[in-house]
Amino acid sequence: MAKAPLTDRFGRTINYVRLSVTDRCDFRCVYCMAEDMTFLPRQQVLTLEEIARLARTFADLGTEKIRLTGGEPLVRRDILQLVKEVGSFGLKDFAMTTNGSQLPHMAEALKKAGLHRVNISLDSLDPDKFQRITRTGRLSQVLDGIDAAREAGFRGIKLNTVVMKGRNDQEVPELIEFARRKKVDISFIEEMPLGVVTEHDREEAFCSSDEVREIIQRHHTLVPATTDSGGPARYYRMQDSPVQVGFISPHSHNFCGTCNRVRVTAEGRLLLCLGNEHSADLRRVLRAHPVDDIKLKQAIVDAMDLKPERHHFNTNGDVQILRFMNMTGG
Ligand code: SAM
Ligand code: SF4
Repeated sequence: MAKAPLTDRFGRTINYVRLSVTDRCDFRCVYCMAEDMTFLPRQQVLTLEEIARLARTFADLGTEKIRLTGGEPLVRRDILQLVKEVGSFGLKDFAMTTNGSQLPHMAEALKKAGLHRVNISLDSLDPDKFQRITRTGRLSQVLDGIDAAREAGFRGIKLNTVVMKGRNDQEVPELIEFARRKKVDISFIEEMPLGVVTEHDREEAFCSSDEVREIIQRHHTLVPATTDSGGPARYYRMQDSPVQVGFISPHSHNFCGTCNRVRVTAEGRLLLCLGNEHSADLRRVLRAHPVDDIKLKQAIVDAMDLKPERHHFNTNGDVQILRFMNMTGG
């Protein structure tokens, strides 16, 4: 089969795939996981060889951008091997989303293995608050990870901050100053109703991107940037800095019309939309046809017809999707 871009019923080209390489994590962020999580049995999780085969198949089907995520991708053993393999495909963009805890000793090797860009989650610059939000995370380790990533010379580094009212919304100006000082981009994310969380009330803690933008505009003029990710993010620049500021607003902006992405869970379930349950079981196909990629390609092409037109998140605190973000591959 030739490299033809994947398209869905609504004429959207799908050229971006997020692959979750594990559901496990060394943190337990309050918006992402329950404190006491049960993780998948190993045989249900795709092997690294299966993930690499999937990645190659997507690349053959015209995928230009792959992001490895999780759970925490850097706690998966031998992850560097997978990065090396995917790095050899010559993708336009090869990125990873990480909590940063393992970057102090892995950033350089990841860069050498062919990773282009990293997104690092950072919700607070206050060590106690950071620990309250991540439950098990240590801020100093992540700050060292950010520095290690800068030294490694990635094509891009972006911080991701989930903003919650009364928790870390007061820190927005400080996080902006931090990003400016470190010369890394930063995106602020609205919390999504994925999985049941017990630690806070999502409706009460909801902080819209418009509110965050207003806080920043008290200190800086934001100029719209031209970058279009085809996703729920809108990007801006500050007049006196090259740093980009993004707002990821699944609630307040309808981005579905230009959606260019799909996700694969650690179990090999192809999710056609973050906010819907439409999916296809690629693990079954991978294991039933261990050498024949034609069947796998066909299963992926057929699944595009399942991609729904749009999602319907609301902010009333109801859980609309039962799977947690670590299962989804954020
Ligand atoms: N462990 C890595 C990390 O934290 O960056 C990668 C996986 S994590 C699921 C990917 C991103 O999803 C993180 O930036 C995290 O903050 C975000 N996230 C997790 N749960 C979320 C939720 N319910 N709403 C919005 N963002 C969420
Ligand atoms: Fe782990 Fe990332 Fe989820 Fe936090 S957001 S618990 S770091 S997977």
